Formats: sequence, C-alpha cells, structure tokens
Amino acid sequence: MSEQTIALVTGANKGIGYEIAAGLGGLGWAVGVGARDQERRETAVAKLRAAGVDAFGVPLDVTDDAGAAQAARLVEERAGRLDVLVNNAAVTGGMPQAPTLVPAATMRTVVETNVIGVIRVTNAMLPLLRRSRSPRIVNMSSTVGSLSHQAGGGDTGPISAAYAASKTFLNAVTIQYVKELADTNIKINMGCPGFVATDLNGFRGVRTPAQGAAIAIRLATLPDDGPTGGFFDDQGPIPW
Ligand code: NAP
Repeated sequence: MSEQTIALVTGANKGIGYEIAAGLGGLGWAVGVGARDQERRETAVAKLRAAGVDAFGVPLDVTDDAGAAQAARLVEERAGRLDVLVNNAAVTGGMPQAPTLVPAATMRTVVETNVIGVIRVTNAMLPLLRRSRSPRIVNMSSTVGSLSHQAGGGDTGPISAAYAASKTFLNAVTIQYVKELADTNIKINMGCPGFVATDLNGFRGVRTPAQGAAIAIRLATLPDDGPTGGFFDDQGPIPW
C-alpha cells in the first residue's frame, strides 16, 4: 500500500473546500476532490494539478447513497485506504430563514446535505479510514452552530432556522461518532473557518477561503496525541 497520505474533501470544487484540497495537496498528499458537478469537478482538479497537487476527481453528491458508495470504491481502487476525510460540503438553503416562515422543504434539504450527508459519506468511508494508521475526520461546522454563542447574543449572523440549526445538529451527531469510535485511533473534530468570502454568503465574508481552510488543515494533520471531539477555530476551542 502506498505511503502517500490520501485525503478526500467533499465540496472541494470551490470556496473553502477547494483551498483545503490545495493545502493538503501542498503537503504532498493525494487529494480526492469530491464534487457533484462533473464540469466544476474537472475544472478544480485541473487547476489543482496545474499547481502541482496530486488531485483526482471523486464524483460525489453527499445526498446520494449510491454515489457515496461509488466514491468509496473509487478511493479504495486508488489507494486501498483513506487517511483523512474532510466533510466540507454544505448549503444554507437560502435566506431569509425565519423559523415561523421557513418551508419544510428548505429544512429537509439543509439537514439532508449538512447533517445526513456527513453521516452518509462518513459511514461509506469508515471501512477505508479504519485501514489508516492515523485516521482523521474533520467536519466543517460554524460558530452559528454554537448554542451558547447564539443564546449569548453577540454577532450571530442572520436568523437561520435551517442552516444554523443544521450545524448544531452536525456537532451533536459528531459527538456521537466520537463516543462510538472512542476505542479506535480515529480522531474526529469540528472546525469553524470564520466568516469567509464565498458563494455561501454572497462573498460578504471578511476572510479569504485560504484563511478559512487553515483550521481544517490543522485538524486534518493532528498528531496521534492530538484532541478528538473538539470544536475549534483558529484561536482554539469554541464554546458549544
Ligand atoms: P461554498 O463556496 O458555497 O461551497 C460549498 C461546497 O459544497 C461547494 O463545492 C458545493 O458544490 C458543495 N456542495 C453543496 N451541496 C452539495 C452536495 N449535495 N453534494 C456535494 N457537494 C455539495 O461554501 P463555503 O463557504 O466554502 O463552505 C464550506 C464549509 O464551510 C461549509 O460546511 C460551510 O457551512 C462552512 N462555513 C462557511 C463559512 C463562511 O463564512 N463561508 C462560515 C462557517 C462555516 P456546488 O458547487 O456543486 O454547489
């Protein structure tokens, strides 16, 4: 089996996910560019390869069971294992999102992508992660998912019944994975990129995608005595 570290980043065709792929690729890793749209995926892979990254395309819509299984087969054929999974793909579902008005369909789409999508891809990849010497899972969360942050006032962004709650849900699910996998060498952490200028917020963010990617890269490269089950931004642990 190859000694080269292999990672898969979901939603890696643009934004923070693209920069996570670029950053991990810069370490000499092979990076699977998980993306649902063929053209956007191929463009991202070509750009990463032109920058010297050992990137390969992984067709992956995180809302699709069969697609997640096929993605795992592709990674297995490529490397026989997976060392790092970054669950980055997400949608907001569109704003405004007042809880009294939000359509049920928006709630379903956002949870299906941001929470169930992470469960689906993680479970598809777990057999491959278990073959790694130092497996890492990074779930991209957000401070808007922090209940204490939301309840404490401060700058919590727009009212967002689907998106913010989906990140709280994701954090809660992640902790259940941490409990179940406590006896394994798999480390799972949640990363918050800060307010980053991407499509997700109409490019209103104040940080660059590369700055947003830094926390995911740090959590993807944790040493064996590093933390698991944490919720971090660049400054350190975030209150739940
Ligand atoms: P973005 O530019 O909108 O990128 C989102 C990525 O997710 C895109 O590649 C998109 O692919 C992909 N995606 C969406 N639904 C998918 C699906 N069903 N299957 C596969 N891929 C799918 O957003 P971003 O700002 O980089 O966000 C990256 C992560 O950081 C997200 O988890 C987000 O919640 C989190 N985050 C962002 C901010 C911020 O300020 N930007 C703050 C806190 C947390 P398509 O191109 O096909 O749509």
